[in-house]
Amino acid sequence: MPVHTPSPLRRLDPVALRDEFPILAERIHGHRLVYLDNANTTQKPRSVIEAESSYYAHDNANIHRSTHLLSERATKAYEGARARVAALIHAPDPHQVIFTRGCTEGINLVAQSWGRANLGPGDEVLVTWMEHHSNIVPWQIVCAQTGAVLKVVPFDDTGTLDLDAFDRLLGERTRFVSLIHVSNALGTINPVKDLIARAHARGVPVLVDGAQAVPHMPVDVVDLDCDFYAFSAHKMYGPTGIGALYGRRELLDAMPPWQGGGDMIASVTFEQTTYNVVPYKFEAGTPNIAGVVAFGAAVDFLRQFDLDEVAAHEADLLRYATDRLSTVGGVRVIGTARDKAGLVSFVLDGVHPHDIGTILDREGVAVRTGQHCAQPVMDRFGVPATVRASFAIYNTRDEVDALVSALTVVREVFG
Ligand code: PMP
Repeated sequence: MPVHTPSPLRRLDPVALRDEFPILAERIHGHRLVYLDNANTTQKPRSVIEAESSYYAHDNANIHRSTHLLSERATKAYEGARARVAALIHAPDPHQVIFTRGCTEGINLVAQSWGRANLGPGDEVLVTWMEHHSNIVPWQIVCAQTGAVLKVVPFDDTGTLDLDAFDRLLGERTRFVSLIHVSNALGTINPVKDLIARAHARGVPVLVDGAQAVPHMPVDVVDLDCDFYAFSAHKMYGPTGIGALYGRRELLDAMPPWQGGGDMIASVTFEQTTYNVVPYKFEAGTPNIAGVVAFGAAVDFLRQFDLDEVAAHEADLLRYATDRLSTVGGVRVIGTARDKAGLVSFVLDGVHPHDIGTILDREGVAVRTGQHCAQPVMDRFGVPATVRASFAIYNTRDEVDALVSALTVVREVFG
């Protein structure tokens, strides 16, 4: 199903765009909402909200099963969303896109399907020290099941990956590499294309956790030459509980299913069951059809824009926020790599991040405080948690000013 790039692209006007996001008009403790928790989840435009309710109002039926018109419409909408997601990441064939519950499930799928079939005692899986827990724990589980060993690439004091250590750790026993594209805790953009080439030179396949990359910059899985790429709809203006996993054709074809049930089979008898083709082999049971349809609408929303322009807008907010935060006494930014995406993690001398979060909330400013599901990163910097402001397409410099003035309230409270 061909999906065309919307043309001409829409000029990015963050202020005008805000009207399309109903929630941004909410009042929080009597203040306008300043939503800077986008790395956690983004807000949803009206087009996404309406796609989901319109699906239920007009097209709802189960997919791939019945011959009636509604089922045909639902199937078309579901498969149309697959084609849209494939187009966004430049996947050569929509059938290389598997719908999952989210980035976490995509990584678990690869760990349990590819990992269990291909890892054995003494084999090594290489990850980085800046992974989200969802790219650590699935590998720990499969290592415990197979006898494989997890190896970890460190990063330096700025949050930049140690490439020499990567080369050293990529050894004779390395069977798989799983890497975060953009760190949700530090903002670091990793040179994944280069790292994939290094792994491929040794015949090692690579999964990229793209949860924080896809909404914020152009991603081309063919150009990256990755073997798997996982991401979540809810961080890219889509609904929660849905995501996608891209995979290289030969690998997906060779992988065993990881869940059994309806729709993933070609034929079932008690003697022998044969499996459906990719991607259906990996989509057992009735999926989140409405979520997929709304995911497609989120992709349409994003693809109206030049993603380089989106990246530049968020980079401008990052620079501005980094400058403005340096004027607040006692702020220390955690993660100062040269290549950073639009988020800033910081601590404030003498004040626990959770207290900062509570006071900011009272001022209408929503940020994330905590470990960001990246406890090893916190341990590496010797902090219990950080405050994280993360930007999206609809954020403005004005909102960064609101964050900074709310931080001065924190300073007044805590001295
Ligand atoms: N990886 C990264 C880098 C993330 O930021 C997140 C979400 N914080 C995840 C994986 C997990 O995404 P989800 O919870 O949507 O599966």
